[in-house]
Amino acid sequence: MEFVYIVRFGEIWIKGKNRRFFEQALEQNIRRTLSRAGRDTKIEKERGRLYVLESADDPGETAALLSRVPGIVSVSVGIRCEKSVESLAENGLKLMRKMALAPVSFKVESKRADKTFPIPSPQLSRAVAEHLLTHGLDVPVDVHRPEMVFGVEIQQHGAYAFCRTLRGAGGLPAGVSGKVALLLSGGIDSPVAGYRMQKRGATVEPVYFHGFPFTSDMVKDKVARLAKKLAFYQDSLTLHVVNFTPVLTALKQSCPEKFTIIVMRRFMVRIAAEIAEKSGCRALVTGDNLGQVASQTLDNLECVTEASPLMILRPLLSFDKFEIIEQAKQIGTYDISIEPHEDCCALFVPKFPEIYGKPEEARKAENGMDIYGLVAECVVSTEEISV
Ligand code: ATP
Ligand code: MG
Repeated sequence: MEFVYIVRFGEIWIKGKNRRFFEQALEQNIRRTLSRAGRDTKIEKERGRLYVLESADDPGETAALLSRVPGIVSVSVGIRCEKSVESLAENGLKLMRKMALAPVSFKVESKRADKTFPIPSPQLSRAVAEHLLTHGLDVPVDVHRPEMVFGVEIQQHGAYAFCRTLRGAGGLPAGVSGKVALLLSGGIDSPVAGYRMQKRGATVEPVYFHGFPFTSDMVKDKVARLAKKLAFYQDSLTLHVVNFTPVLTALKQSCPEKFTIIVMRRFMVRIAAEIAEKSGCRALVTGDNLGQVASQTLDNLECVTEASPLMILRPLLSFDKFEIIEQAKQIGTYDISIEPHEDCCALFVPKFPEIYGKPEEARKAENGMDIYGLVAECVVSTEEISV
């Protein structure tokens, strides 16, 4: 059966000057997502909508994939019809049978974009509902709380009936906002931080600080699997694995214990900034969350910010943990993130960490360390993995 997926996108960005650019990006992202999943589809456009056509047995997988593409507000599973009440109702019934839908109540909602079509929307809804009722859909109409909304759209180039609508991811099409380097650990937060940036159109380039043998290569594999989840949302994705051991060793040797976490983070942002600049990234992104752990007080965040040559974005700063977990489950990173792993930071957490660090104290704590030498050493030994 030939299904049509009616793809709706944000009203806000379709109005601006960049509209064509945004639409093209969205279309390209849809093509890539569906072809990667082996779906054989065709795309048609009409003002404010994209129509994805597919001959398939089951529309579920394609609809689910589309609902995950950033920039899409909603997607309906429908069927193309003639511009007539009979065709809309009969094809709609066929679609419902194919999708095995048996609602206990329904209502019809119509949209008439083609004003040359003679029946106005309210009458059209009524006429289609009547036809449905007399041709097989023998359940009550409930205009307030219907189990199924039977949608009807009359466009210039055709008419559509649809009976299932999924909410989309929203946001902007991936790739329209430039590139950022994501500090990706094996935890719950940083993959979500990356996704939130992707959803605002950014392309992410993850950087993971690997402290072998303080942390085993299993963690590296875990981070690579997390990065792969984020790769769904963009053209290609390169994971940078930094050999962080020289910094960890130097920390053990000469940093006052109280400051190890702050100084470790300062090294992370310095190294990430160099990698970022080399790969054309404009900013760093972290999974920091205000007040979640001792290292994430405003004071300590400021200490880290002060050491960074690049702007640091912290999209999760105001999120509650349960909101982060919910989002992590939605994007499929949660189950990977909760696999047990040794976090190099956890291994270095002092008994009494500094909670209200001051930049000048952090600088003093770094006195015994060769900052430029260590940064350069880590940057050269960084491994790039295409996931
Ligand atoms: P996450 O779940 O992202 O690990 P967290 O709550 O455990 O977050 P921290 O471990 O304190 O927080 O780290 C704060 C942020 O610092 C992380 O979200 C991440 O962006 C960055 N970070 C920490 N450790 C690493 C690492 N080994 N490699 C890359 N980035 C890291
Ligand atoms: Mg962590």
